[in-house]
Amino acid sequence: MVTSLNEDNESVTVEWIENGDTKGKEIDLESIFSLNPDLAPEDDDPSPETPPPPTPSAKVNKIVKVARRKSNCVKEVEKLQEKREKRRLQQQELREKRAQDVDATNPNYEIMCMIRDFRGSLDYRPLTTADPIDEHRICVCVRKRPLNKKETVMKDLDVITIPSKDVVMVHEPKQKVDLTRYLENQTFRFDYAFDDSAPNEMVYRFTARPLVETIFERGMATCFAYGQTGSGKTHTMGGDFSGKNQDCSKGIYALAARDVFLMLKKPNYKKLELQVYATFFEIYSGKVFDLLNRKTKLRVLEDGKQQVQVVGLQEREVKCVEDVLKLIEIGNSCRTSGQTSANAHSSRSHAVFQIILRRKGKLHGKFSLIDLAGNERGADTSSADRQTRLEGAEINKSLLALKECIRALGRNKPHTPFRASKLTQVLRDSFIGENSRTCMIATISPGMASCENTLNTLRYANRVKELTVDPNAAGDIRPMMHHTPNQIDDLEAQWGVGSSPQRDDLKLLCEQNEEEVSPQLFTFHEAVSQMVEMEEQVVEDHRAVFQESIRWLEDEKALLEMTEEVDYDVDSYATQLEAILEQKIYILTELRDKVKSFRAALQEEEQASKQINPKRPRAL
Ligand code: ADP
Ligand code: MG
Repeated sequence: MVTSLNEDNESVTVEWIENGDTKGKEIDLESIFSLNPDLAPEDDDPSPETPPPPTPSAKVNKIVKVARRKSNCVKEVEKLQEKREKRRLQQQELREKRAQDVDATNPNYEIMCMIRDFRGSLDYRPLTTADPIDEHRICVCVRKRPLNKKETVMKDLDVITIPSKDVVMVHEPKQKVDLTRYLENQTFRFDYAFDDSAPNEMVYRFTARPLVETIFERGMATCFAYGQTGSGKTHTMGGDFSGKNQDCSKGIYALAARDVFLMLKKPNYKKLELQVYATFFEIYSGKVFDLLNRKTKLRVLEDGKQQVQVVGLQEREVKCVEDVLKLIEIGNSCRTSGQTSANAHSSRSHAVFQIILRRKGKLHGKFSLIDLAGNERGADTSSADRQTRLEGAEINKSLLALKECIRALGRNKPHTPFRASKLTQVLRDSFIGENSRTCMIATISPGMASCENTLNTLRYANRVKELTVDPNAAGDIRPMMHHTPNQIDDLEAQWGVGSSPQRDDLKLLCEQNEEEVSPQLFTFHEAVSQMVEMEEQVVEDHRAVFQESIRWLEDEKALLEMTEEVDYDVDSYATQLEAILEQKIYILTELRDKVKSFRAALQEEEQASKQINPKRPRAL
């Protein structure tokens, strides 16, 4: 559409709509006429007598006539012009707002100015509620939180810019050899990018909300918050904090529950007579704890059909949003209670909140919402403290496995290393099946101090999605890694766990992530999983022996009582006592030997942790 006529240079300004955006440009009349000969004045005014040479204004008049004929068009143009003007003003405001916070006393003043100038040159088009919500099987998006008080006090800089609905830019300060500083701007693209001004409702609208319908259509849905500690995962999933109190009604858990109950009332679904249940549990260092049942430790079992069960997990029926909020509160307080440094622990565990639909008791659909453990990776795998090492190893492994499972979902790949971690094992049923959908919200801190972690988060999120858009890349098989045999092999023979499915999956996982998992790290992971398996067995056997001891006591008591009789059978007494003692010795020796190998595995793990090259590439 023609929006203005410029007589000075014989051109017109035109505008059009492309992908919902208004675009415009100036175009000279000559080009217009050559493209549209019917508009050219020569053809239009075939005056027999001395045709006056077409003056610019004659040409313009012609255009005006054409434009007038389409009066609707003109109105449309005016509307567009208005809109454009409004947008220009908005952008101006945004730019000014962004340019404001430049503080000359900041040690990074120079960098701050560079970022400000860069932002000044950008065209901002943030996501709005008017934007369409696309259907994705896998949706990956990024959410930036605002700088917090502490960062502001420390004069940290906001190095993240979100110029449009799907772009994230990181302005990484760098230094040349001559010490001059410069910005390295890296751009990432996702399904959606949420600026620090986007509230939870907005994030929810584009991420988890579209998945609610999935579970009504007999599907499985998952939604993950992924990012470094302090980047806003719990804020997003669990709800806004005001001081120490969390308003869980504003979190994605509650927002999803609200829509589940709304959807339940729709005639189509009402007639299904579905019941709604909720579970809330935590996975810490490969162990599952029920947050709705005083943090009881639960066992994860897999049957012959690869059906995974969390034994004894409390599934509470919920009738309304308030019921759900109560459960979230119970779970949250359980999650953080009894710890000296609450956040330190909760940031090292994955929290899983599930909304389950059942029809006459049978599973109809399941929505799992997961607040993942912090992805930052310090030197924890080589830490002197075993618990810290185990936590680190488990988080590293589970996030790698999660990435592979989502990638596999996108490609409908048959084998995924879901057994490599408890997280993916427990969520396995959500990654398979035609009707499974997932969404990942990568949360990032805006500060310069978090730059490295932020880049790692963005790279990870990028890999999750990138692979789903390239179906040709499916099935690429990386060369096998070769590891030197170690003590573990001997232990394997002794324990008969050499080919455990967990360890096969771990191997597969490490092969798929060869660049990120050094051979030393792989050996360490193997040692850890060996150790964890042994720990489970030792504790289980110990419990059995303990139960058995009670029976021994009773038997021995009866035997001793027998000797009090005047005419007791000495032969029988001696035979029975010997039998009991032999059984005891046999069982206790077996347990003792297991404990011995377990201790060897503990040492093996410690050795392996020392072999990890601290300079390995940071993957997560
Ligand atoms: P994580 O769970 O990733 O460790 P939190 O959700 O606990 O991080 O967030 C860390 C802090 O930042 C909290 O005090 C939280 O209130 C605040 N915060 C996080 N995201 C936002 C946001 N989008 N807007 C405002 N404050 C936020
Ligand atoms: Mg958290």
